Amino acid sequence: MIFFKSLFGFLLLLSLAKAQQTNYVTIGIMSEFPITSVWISAAQGSYFVYADNNKIYTINGKGSIHVSKVGDSLMVKTNGEVLATCKKVKMLGKDAPNSFNIKCLQPALPERTYDDNLEIRPNGKGMKLINRVNIDHYVAGVVEAENGISQNFEFYKAKSIICRTYALSNLKRHEAEGYQLCDKVHCQVYKGKNKRNDDIIMAAVATTGIVIVDSNIKLITAAFHSNCGGQTMNSEDVWALPTTYLKSVKDTFCLNKPQARWETTITKKDWLTYLTLKHNCNLTDTLHTDCYSNYEQPYRESDLIIHDIKIPFKKLRTDFNLRSGFFSIIDMGDSIKIVGRGFGHGLGLCQEGAMRMSELGYKYNEILHFYYKDVHLVDLSVLDFFKD
Ligand SMILES: [Zn+2]
Ligand SMILES: [Zn+2]
Repeated sequence: MIFFKSLFGFLLLLSLAKAQQTNYVTIGIMSEFPITSVWISAAQGSYFVYADNNKIYTINGKGSIHVSKVGDSLMVKTNGEVLATCKKVKMLGKDAPNSFNIKCLQPALPERTYDDNLEIRPNGKGMKLINRVNIDHYVAGVVEAENGISQNFEFYKAKSIICRTYALSNLKRHEAEGYQLCDKVHCQVYKGKNKRNDDIIMAAVATTGIVIVDSNIKLITAAFHSNCGGQTMNSEDVWALPTTYLKSVKDTFCLNKPQARWETTITKKDWLTYLTLKHNCNLTDTLHTDCYSNYEQPYRESDLIIHDIKIPFKKLRTDFNLRSGFFSIIDMGDSIKIVGRGFGHGLGLCQEGAMRMSELGYKYNEILHFYYKDVHLVDLSVLDFFKD
């Protein structure tokens, strides 16, 4: 153990001695819209504009370009003057830092701001927009989109490391589309530059390069959810895939947070029909009379078991559209009351618990080690070292 700790210390020093390499990721943005016309200006810094690799323009100060889809090509204009008709437009920041404003005119969408660079290509009926962005800028954008602007610094640091780890372990998800990650919940929600709380970009930069690896020095699947209700889940009970790090932990930090408790009601008729049709519950069999009595789940269980009937709680959650699979059942006569705890799948980091830990003064590394078991926080270059 001591050997491993000193090995990690050595590797961290080794990695810090290396020059910080700038890492970029490519994100497909606004791909759900058939965009045919955009207006772009510089928000910060200035940009070289390339059409099929030829430099055609520099956006300075109040300058802007308009890019539209014409046939199978793109037309680039400024102030009504056509600069080029081409198959690819690139905007490269001249001197860092750079960010640009983009307003989709067709369809009309609110203006957004993105850090770093942009590539535009024709794509079917519209155009494909790809933001090539420094990973820390991307991380800050995602953390702001997912967690808002009123959290503590240590929470933002923990989430930055999760976001970076998740991104780097999913870089091939959109290879066929020509970028690495999309900007939707499928990958991670990203609506552009972090603008409303500087703590968020400071947290991303303060943790730059740090990722979470398991005991085999592999990037972990950094799962998280809103609130665990007092206990997180084992990965094998949710994904049928055991891991060394997504292990059930008792969590008292989230118990007084907004998503800790919920209730809903379903009719007795719907409940019994469900049990009969979907799970072969024979209501005339005395063995199954318990099907419509109370069921207590004081600690997380993977299945609702009534004699020979076994229904995974995650299935009940999906079938009845419940906030979590952590609930008890109370027979109310004509109806069934479902008394639930938490919100989400219950795997990995419990966000409301982590927020509470940060309020109580816990550091980001303590928060991450509480929710992910037997993991290490390492610099990316350590991964390269082990790859070699
Ligand atoms: Zn995606
Ligand atoms: Zn929790």
